[in-house]
Amino acid sequence: ELAELVEAGIALEAWPREWFSVHDNIRRPGAIFTTSFAEGEALAAARALGPEAVLAELEVSGLRGRGGAGFRTAQKWRFCRESEGDARYIVCNADEGEPGTFKDRVLLTRLPDALFEGMTIAGLAVGAHRGLLYLRAEYEYLRPLLEAVLVRRRDAGLLGADALGTGEGFDIAIHMGAGAYICGEESALIESLEGKRGQARVRPPFPVKRGYVQKPTVVNNVQTFIQAAQIALRGGAWFAAQGTEKSPGSVVLSVSGDVARRGIHEYPFGVTLGEVLAGCGAYAVKAVQVGGPSGHLVGPADFRRRIAFEDLATTGSLMVFDTSRDIVAVVQNFIHFFEHESCGFCTPCRVGTTMLRRLVDRVAAGQASEADLAEIVATSLVTRSASHCGLGQSAPLSLLDALQRFRADFDTKLSGQGSDPGFDLDGALA
Ligand code: NAD
Repeated sequence: ELAELVEAGIALEAWPREWFSVHDNIRRPGAIFTTSFAEGEALAAARALGPEAVLAELEVSGLRGRGGAGFRTAQKWRFCRESEGDARYIVCNADEGEPGTFKDRVLLTRLPDALFEGMTIAGLAVGAHRGLLYLRAEYEYLRPLLEAVLVRRRDAGLLGADALGTGEGFDIAIHMGAGAYICGEESALIESLEGKRGQARVRPPFPVKRGYVQKPTVVNNVQTFIQAAQIALRGGAWFAAQGTEKSPGSVVLSVSGDVARRGIHEYPFGVTLGEVLAGCGAYAVKAVQVGGPSGHLVGPADFRRRIAFEDLATTGSLMVFDTSRDIVAVVQNFIHFFEHESCGFCTPCRVGTTMLRRLVDRVAAGQASEADLAEIVATSLVTRSASHCGLGQSAPLSLLDALQRFRADFDTKLSGQGSDPGFDLDGALA
């Protein structure tokens, strides 16, 4: 089982081959797993292009952030370049904490040179001389491998005093996380990098203006940096030839749950959810959690939807549940996770996730009434709208989806006592 191998820290190389797939229907442009380049090749191309031309190629590519939100990378890098400051920083968010998401772990293992190359190219494009890789605590075992790659790149002159090729230097340091999910939120990550408690800042100002030590900072996901390096080498048009107009390139999905082929699957953006499920050998699917617990829970009515920022937006994961699964148990697991990971800074998230966990526990135990479902909806809406950061804002999403799409799983568990005729549950859900 994948989970057991991950738990045991078994090297990726030992994973069954069929767990990694780049699907036949993916043409080479924009694909991350079928596009390799020699060490230093993309950086040499970027040095030859210069900062403006690198940014222009990124603009043509339409690359959007692979951490989940899909912000345009060219715009982010340009904002940083144009922000005032006597120093700039490049930060790689490798705090892949979303349950069910493990694509960055594979990329860190398989393409570490391409990642560091992408960070160096970002330094060249925005005028930064220092990069920081924030590595998830659970990926500590990858650190020696990554440090060895950094040493090799310094020896090869790809990092260090003249890394940018203009007499200007760039170097990268690795900073370990300590196991907090909230530190995947970019401003909490920056606080943590500064040695403070991981707590989300108020945005704006965004990191491109005031980030690490209040200086302009680019924060991007592992995959985004690798794809930026591929674009610097092969050009923006090469990348934009794949995917949809609004979501160019490919999507790398971590697929887990009730499918025959769990693992990493790469498809062009625009593929339908149904095509991916069929490709992974899913059977009798009841529900799919798209983008991890902070994303959305969808059902068969959504299988024709396209995976793209403009439709079913995810860059991360699919957790597949077949018809034998109890959706209340699924969302109960998720809300326990969010209650545990809430940083406690703001009341709506701290109290909201605890209230929701108690309510869902009551449903699961067969002790809840219709009024408790109404309470779940009311509490979810407040938590979603009043929380300080993305953690609290997204914690109730799967719960609301579950009530909308899999109401029968809840109804069969109700005790039939204590109904609340004053609350219009269906109206609130709509
Ligand atoms: P966001 O839309 O607020 O920001 C996305 C990026 O764009 C950030 O880097 C932000 O700094 C930048 N940005 C946005 N507006 C800007 C502006 N006006 N000027 C300059 N920069 C700007 O999203 P977010 O809250 O940073 O992230 C939410 C996403 O994180 C969700 O889509 C979710 O799927 C994802 N997520 C990923 C994981 C994981 O493990 N990969 C875990 C949880 C959540």
